[in-house]
Amino acid sequence: MNDEKTEGIVLKAVPFKENDRILSLFTPDQGVMSLYVRGLSRKNPSLVNLATPLCRAEFLFRKGRSDLHRFIDGSIIDLHLPMRRSYRHLEYAGKMLQAILKSQMPGKGAEGLYYLLSSYLKKLPDSPLPETLWTSFELKLLKYEGLLAIHDTCLSCGKEKASHISEGESRCEKCCHPMSLPFSDLDWKTLLVLSHARTFAPFINLELSPSFIQAIESIFISQFN
Ligand SMILES: [Zn+2]
Repeated sequence: MNDEKTEGIVLKAVPFKENDRILSLFTPDQGVMSLYVRGLSRKNPSLVNLATPLCRAEFLFRKGRSDLHRFIDGSIIDLHLPMRRSYRHLEYAGKMLQAILKSQMPGKGAEGLYYLLSSYLKKLPDSPLPETLWTSFELKLLKYEGLLAIHDTCLSCGKEKASHISEGESRCEKCCHPMSLPFSDLDWKTLLVLSHARTFAPFINLELSPSFIQAIESIFISQFN
């Protein structure tokens, strides 16, 4: 038998035929993978829940010849129900799922990123400022992919304080590219906290300025769109 088991988070669910769905699943060992779920009906609500975006579950599936594997069974770990109480929080959760879909290659294991996403989704419903959590998620994803390195000092001269992001690197005013993004001293400190903090406490209540959020969003979009 080619049956396999994996934990995963449903990123996307596309309806297919009358009662079927094709799921894009994010898993620790196999990255993004596709699962074909057959026969959804109102009589089986747990199957419908399993095949819904944001559901974190254990999936049993059969490997086929193609990359579309066949769903056999599953058990729900977390439906992230508290998130569904607020449209605004749900919107930011959706942005996180989309970011994974856009940045991850199918079949490429991403254990660290999987647990990062899980912890952000868990924290999001209690977060008073979901945009702060999202901005930190963007920075951590860029860092994880090796596309952004935020440091205290300039990566080029190694002496001056960094204050600009230039092609994904931290640079000082003298060493930066003309098209680089400048940050104030205070914003640079915020950047360091948001990209490196290992717990949520240092930034969960930190209100970010719209221009700061926009600057990070523009870096993120230029890398992943
Ligand atoms: Zn420099």
